Amino acid sequence: MERQATIGLEIHAELATASKMFCDSSNDPSEKHPNINVCPVCMGHPGTLPVINKEAVKHVLRVGLALGGEANRHSQFDRKNYFYPDLPKGYQISQYEHPLIVGGGITLASGKRIRIRRIHLEEDTGRLLHEIPAGLGNSPRGAPSLSKSRKTSRSFVDFNRAGIPLMEMVTEPDISSAGEAKEFAEEFRRALLYLEASRANLEKGEMRLEANVSLNMGTKTEVKNINSFAALFSAIEYEIERQTEALKNKKELKQETRGWDDVKQKTFSQRLKESSHDYRYFPEPDLPPLKVYEDAELNPDTLRLELPEMPWDKRARFAREFGLDAKACAMLASDKKLGEFFEEAVSELMEWAGESPHGHIRLLYNYLSSDLVGLMKAKELEWGDILMTPENFSELIKMVAHSEISSRAAKDVLAAMLEESSDPSDIVRDRGLAQVSGEEELQKIAQKIIEANPAAVADYKAGKQNALQFLLGQMMRETKGSANPEKAKEVLTKELE
Ligand code: ADP
Ligand code: MG
Repeated sequence: MERQATIGLEIHAELATASKMFCDSSNDPSEKHPNINVCPVCMGHPGTLPVINKEAVKHVLRVGLALGGEANRHSQFDRKNYFYPDLPKGYQISQYEHPLIVGGGITLASGKRIRIRRIHLEEDTGRLLHEIPAGLGNSPRGAPSLSKSRKTSRSFVDFNRAGIPLMEMVTEPDISSAGEAKEFAEEFRRALLYLEASRANLEKGEMRLEANVSLNMGTKTEVKNINSFAALFSAIEYEIERQTEALKNKKELKQETRGWDDVKQKTFSQRLKESSHDYRYFPEPDLPPLKVYEDAELNPDTLRLELPEMPWDKRARFAREFGLDAKACAMLASDKKLGEFFEEAVSELMEWAGESPHGHIRLLYNYLSSDLVGLMKAKELEWGDILMTPENFSELIKMVAHSEISSRAAKDVLAAMLEESSDPSDIVRDRGLAQVSGEEELQKIAQKIIEANPAAVADYKAGKQNALQFLLGQMMRETKGSANPEKAKEVLTKELE
């Protein structure tokens, strides 16, 4: 029997704010020393009171609105009660019944819409570091090796992360494959980056993925510890496979939380799923409800007007304005800085491209997406790092389009431009890379080659076509490859008459 997979995602992202969610301790994920960014509020000391960080609220509103969601007129914080050593207050301030955002969604390339159920705001927990002596097992990823001489395990808590603003987005169970889940999560991350709401680095835990998976609307499992998009894909594939096998063998599935083991490429049972009443949610008595429409700084109607162009809009516009195919548009919108670079280079190109610029735009795209991206990968450069200006890049494309340099030389010039950020025409001049395409110059060279190779000339006159190839090869050699091959052939054929 064909089984239908049902998948819903829960995605957490740490927000890029200056201070924490409810106090003025610094929100600095790069702080290496433990327990530096702490204060009585985020340490849960009695008698302290939380204050809402509006910058964090604004980030969540912008993300929600950009994704087509609605801001709730009445939103409020709740206490989610549970005990864990990384949670100093014994409860987490979160949102339960009245999240900041409801609705919205992301449309996949196939046209299928994945609905977002809600986006709410909460605070992050601290971090536990477990020291496990050599021989007793592996310390978890990221845990420092604190001393080599100890015989027993011990754990430490770092509260720098406790109280950092965290947003949680929950989708409807509209996803039906691992590929769709990965596409959704990648697009969601791109939206966060375009909005500068989060640094959203998965490896650093700034963005965390959880997948809920079931078959035929049966028992669902929730998979955690997923720290890359590739892992999200594999974890879902694995879970579908595992549940299919269990159902085939008439084994009962448990509603549980499972972890993803990236080394074994398997999910494993962690605990039975808790239900919401276990958390004894109740309204946070120390915080007022959030009425965002009544706050000028947070008014959603104003925030909506200030949203930047989002990746999906950029793709559609690039297709319309530049006549590029879907793959090219997706590549260009994959990174905000890349899209900006491309657009500036194109606007320079418009100054010389004439009436029908699409061919030249395509040429520019090709150099950007293959040669430039290749060089950047090799040098491990990001779009934010490159010094080459869009003007200079566009000028290089002009030289190629006008046959002033060969495509071979263009690659060298590009590599040099990445290093020196200098003008392509200077590089071409300094390195003697200009292509010889002047009629007179090529004539002189052709005559010289004809004089020096009487036998080949005779062969050519006798109708042997490869004699022409030979003579052309000699011309290229004479010019060290800098002759424009088409022009050279044209001139040579004329001289041979
Ligand atoms: P719970 O109360 O168990 O946390 P929710 O209904 O709140 O479940 O949904 C949590 C996540 O699970 C959401 O992302 C939702 O889309 C997803 N989900 C809900 N039902 C299913 C299902 N049958 N199969 C897979 N995912 C589901
Ligand atoms: Mg949840």
